[in-house]
Amino acid sequence: MMAQYLEIKARYPDALLFYRMGDFYEMFFDDARAAAEALDIALTKRGKHKGSDIPMCGVPVHSAEGYLLTLIRKGFRVAVCEQMEDPAEAKKRGSKSVVKRDVVRLVTPGTLTEESLLDARRHNYLAAYNEVRGDGALAWVDISTGEFRIMACSPPRLGPELARLSPREVILAEANEPKFCELVSDLGASVTPLGGSAFDSTASEKRLLGLFAIASLDAFGTFSRAEIGAMGAIVEYLEITQKGKLPLIRPPVKEAASRVMQIDAATRRNLELTHSLSGGREGALLHTIDRTVTAAGGRLLERRISSPSRDLASVESRLESVSFIQEQGRLRTDLRGALRKAPDIDRALSRLSLERGGPRDLTAIRAALEAASDLAGLLGKHDLPDRLADAATALTGHDALRDLLSDALVAEPPLLVRDGGFIAAGYDPDLDDARKLRDEGRSVIAGMQAEYAKTAGVQSLKIKHNNVLGYFIETTATHAEKMLSPPLSETFIHRQTTANAVRFTTVDLSDLETRILNAGSRAIEIEKRLYSALSDEVLSHSGPLGLLARALAEFDLAAALAELAETEAWCRPEVEDSRVFEVVGGRHPVVERALRAQGGEPFIANDCRLADGSDGADIWLLTGPNMAGKSTFLRQNALIALLAQAGSYVPATSARIGLVSQLFSRVGASDDLARGRSTFMVEMVETAAILNQADDRSLVILDEIGRGTATYDGLSIAWATLEHLHDVNRCRALFATHYHELTQLAAKLDGVDNATIAVKEWDGEVIFLHEVRKGAADRSYGVQVAKLAGLPASVVERARVVLEALEQGEREGGGAQKALIDDLPLFSAAVSAAPPAKAGPSPAEEKLAGVHPDELTPKQALDLIYVLKDLS
Ligand code: ADP
Repeated sequence: MMAQYLEIKARYPDALLFYRMGDFYEMFFDDARAAAEALDIALTKRGKHKGSDIPMCGVPVHSAEGYLLTLIRKGFRVAVCEQMEDPAEAKKRGSKSVVKRDVVRLVTPGTLTEESLLDARRHNYLAAYNEVRGDGALAWVDISTGEFRIMACSPPRLGPELARLSPREVILAEANEPKFCELVSDLGASVTPLGGSAFDSTASEKRLLGLFAIASLDAFGTFSRAEIGAMGAIVEYLEITQKGKLPLIRPPVKEAASRVMQIDAATRRNLELTHSLSGGREGALLHTIDRTVTAAGGRLLERRISSPSRDLASVESRLESVSFIQEQGRLRTDLRGALRKAPDIDRALSRLSLERGGPRDLTAIRAALEAASDLAGLLGKHDLPDRLADAATALTGHDALRDLLSDALVAEPPLLVRDGGFIAAGYDPDLDDARKLRDEGRSVIAGMQAEYAKTAGVQSLKIKHNNVLGYFIETTATHAEKMLSPPLSETFIHRQTTANAVRFTTVDLSDLETRILNAGSRAIEIEKRLYSALSDEVLSHSGPLGLLARALAEFDLAAALAELAETEAWCRPEVEDSRVFEVVGGRHPVVERALRAQGGEPFIANDCRLADGSDGADIWLLTGPNMAGKSTFLRQNALIALLAQAGSYVPATSARIGLVSQLFSRVGASDDLARGRSTFMVEMVETAAILNQADDRSLVILDEIGRGTATYDGLSIAWATLEHLHDVNRCRALFATHYHELTQLAAKLDGVDNATIAVKEWDGEVIFLHEVRKGAADRSYGVQVAKLAGLPASVVERARVVLEALEQGEREGGGAQKALIDDLPLFSAAVSAAPPAKAGPSPAEEKLAGVHPDELTPKQALDLIYVLKDLS
């Protein structure tokens, strides 16, 4: 047995081998050590190998799924090795013969299908990235729903695209692995290297043609060699992991990057789209706005939020669907009621196709078909907008399948096929017979006895049972003569004569006997056969069922967004092909909800107008004390743009959004210690990405940029960044800063306006009004905020004294507080830190030579910069 184990294990060096032994999956050697630790189960030993004990641990087969889940979550992959024959078969070959075993499946994060291993409302993507001479392509599949997609993807776009999809597992060609491995792991996906041959475009094309049973890939569109290779690698990997049993996969759909709003990984994280910064789902946008009632609707919402559209027509049609349902309050409630009863068609189909399904997958399809007819009934008289009208056509035409399933299946079937009892009575006469015999064996016998009594004309005739003869017919000796002679002897076959009775059997009775004995197992066999036939029938409808699943998700999402709009008083945004960004009464959905839950202050709505043509400002420079609500304001506007293009209503009283091509969001000082980069470095890398990429249709949110370094460095960087955004990128931007010096730029740059968040000072305390107004903040109220935060009174008092001294020093330009001021960050230092010129002194340098930085006030320093700029 160990020889067999080692031979199989050698084929799966990267996986833990679950080696089936009776009711357990056993693991040996290093696998056992790793699994025992990961699962916190006992490590034992069994036998010896090369003189040492063999470590072993095991998990019971019936509870293996839970252990699998833990192992997959911890980054393992598991090869499940089953017994391929009955142990009795092996015995027949000889007493030492080992039961045949083989791996039936390789379980990896990207290839899960079990309900218990998956999150119902999330996709579970397996992706493959391929490069052919610098030409990149990304393919991804969710085998639990059959969705299969492909897109051209240049190497620098790989990170953002993976962040969008957040796949669980990414296949890379071995040659590319070193280059992209870190990027993939950083996004939390596991990396699977495959040999280059898996990506070979000729072999890949063959695999794809075979999988979809088509003669040419042209049927699905035109694909580059890189794209074909990426898709081929996925199919190859599925063949490896599913051991040749391929799941139901839909024809590949090509996605174009230009059709979706580009959002990079940092922006997604920062805006907390699907996960909050602390990692959980609660507190993220998705969780806050999700009102879908089906798992497929939930997955569609996640896709929309992760990939908002950049295509005006599709945004419009999505919004139109929401409006339609929003206006029909009654219909909305009814639709949602009907949808609640619709189970997950995609996942049921996937399990059926992999032969991992059960009777409940069939009843799930039945329930979904019933929900679809209910939905069609509700929609019947309405004049639907195009998108919903399209979806509605997929709701009908399933009557035959629905009737079949409702005739065939009981209301609440058991989980497993092998338990039987899921086929409804009256569906199959053979099954009914078998069950009748099994359940009512005695009464069938009684019926037969009455019949024989009549035939023989012997009232006292009995059918009895004993362990030697089984069932037999018995009469008293008085009737023996008659029964032993023709014509009765033709039917009644003599078995035994005792002192006072004669026993017979008949062909029918022994037949009945075998049937009774076998009835139970026969019933199960028939049910298994019917199950396969029904499963095949359902799978033969996988095309229309897939469309139906999509339609149900579409209705669910439109109704959910309508419900959200209605209950939260959101408005329909006007989305247009322009640069305008005008939000009136905007709110942050997550902060608003949190405030409501606390039951305290209400959320204060705020307006934001960029590039609206009236005052022309493309950029708002937002100042205000900490805690005033700057970050909230910035993010709420980014979220409103994103929600609008996802096709949702938005948290505002009105909104006009010119299509945003790329959305960027950066916050100062988000530590990324895990990657060993300093806070400041991360911030600068991310800022560089914006300055290099943002175009005039982008929306940029910069929060406290430059905070991670010394004041002058920070101010200078913020300054230069703002100028670059204004002059070069020409994007729409909201720029929050605590460098008040920057507010002077508004006067210099046409497209920059100052805005501030109002606070009131009262009795030495600061009161946050959370109102965004035009103009610059007068001061930063840091000391007051620190007091609010509970800094010891002595420290607050000392800070106040120091601040006063500093402010006085600033007014007087030195003097008594010089010692203090020397320690203070003055803007003049930034100027003096300018790099020396290489050739002779320029006019600016000459001017500088006469300046004594320590004697300058920040105001003078700033003025000096303008002078210097004019000179240069
Ligand atoms: P800043 O970025 O200026 O330091 P935040 O945006 O982090 O401030 O906001 C601080 C807190 O103020 C938030 O957690 C929230 O509770 C509250 N807040 C922010 N904006 C508003 C608003 N518009 N209405 C009510 N409360 C708000």
